[in-house]
Amino acid sequence: MTAQLIDGKAFAADLRARVGEHAAAFSEQAGRKAGLAVVLVGEDAASEVYVRSKGKATVAANMESFEHRLPADTSQEELIALVEQLNADPAVDGILVQLPLPGDLDEQAVIAAIDPGKDVDGFHVESAGRLMVGREGFVPCTPLGCIMLLRDRHGDLSGLNAVVIGRSHIVGKPMAQLLLDANATVTIAHSRTKDLPEIVRRADIVVAAVGRAEMVKADWIKPGATVIDVGINRLMPAEGESKGRLVGDVDFAGASEVAGAITPVPGGVGPMTIAVLLRNTLVAAYAHAGLEAPEGL
Ligand code: NAD
Repeated sequence: MTAQLIDGKAFAADLRARVGEHAAAFSEQAGRKAGLAVVLVGEDAASEVYVRSKGKATVAANMESFEHRLPADTSQEELIALVEQLNADPAVDGILVQLPLPGDLDEQAVIAAIDPGKDVDGFHVESAGRLMVGREGFVPCTPLGCIMLLRDRHGDLSGLNAVVIGRSHIVGKPMAQLLLDANATVTIAHSRTKDLPEIVRRADIVVAAVGRAEMVKADWIKPGATVIDVGINRLMPAEGESKGRLVGDVDFAGASEVAGAITPVPGGVGPMTIAVLLRNTLVAAYAHAGLEAPEGL
């Protein structure tokens, strides 16, 4: 391997420790802890794991965690009533509704019910609009984590060619906007893009957010490029394995012989997401308390 490994796990641990220290100082100043409410509807096993680890990380960062578990047959009205109750609760600074929602529940309507000042996931249309027009607001955690890793590696991103593969509302589009705000020249590629390998070969920065195991090949990567792999894909178990391996959207073994720097999967972008969620929650708490958030949070 010739590429430098971008250690998202270590970066995220630092960020969490920093947030934890500031959160302790916040409680002293504000006379209460910052609080994150997580709402889980139904019994999806993967969502259950995410919610549990978010709860633990919140408490470890000196913040209050409120978990709300609702049955899968919860109605739209009941779910929105809970969101409104959390909007009104002064102990709650951030609200996260774990997606996907089961059954016929309308995700967009539920997200729209969240107070934009508590939208720490950054999925509300107001947050998306603020990002688009360059106003302060909450930015989705995964792309914000990716741009932190990129700034740490490159410092100034001005004029670099960035290719984002994927155009989802939660990763691809906000990622592209953050890169644009950092003065990169940005191309967004997606399922209908022609000559994807050719486009990726021009990139100084590649962000892959597709959800297809090892789709981006080594010979698509410009030598020395920085590769951020957002994808999380589980392979079929090999013989003797009970669970398949987790891999990203990039052929890590091949690409790490060509790239200048690359995130591993797991241990790259994944750990950044929760760390940024805690950071966003603390930023919300400072705003709710009418206090200035510390520099560099
Ligand atoms: P999504 O399914 O909403 O979007 C995938 C995007 O990929 C689409 O915009 C689509 O146009 C594009 N695409 C599909 N096939 C393509 C192809 N052949 N060539 C080029 N583009 C193609 O997914 P998402 O929510 O953006 O997530 C993407 C991946 O990132 C998934 O693997 C997901 O598990 C992972 N993810 C990781 C984290 C994390 O914390 N690390 C967070 C969110 C998502």
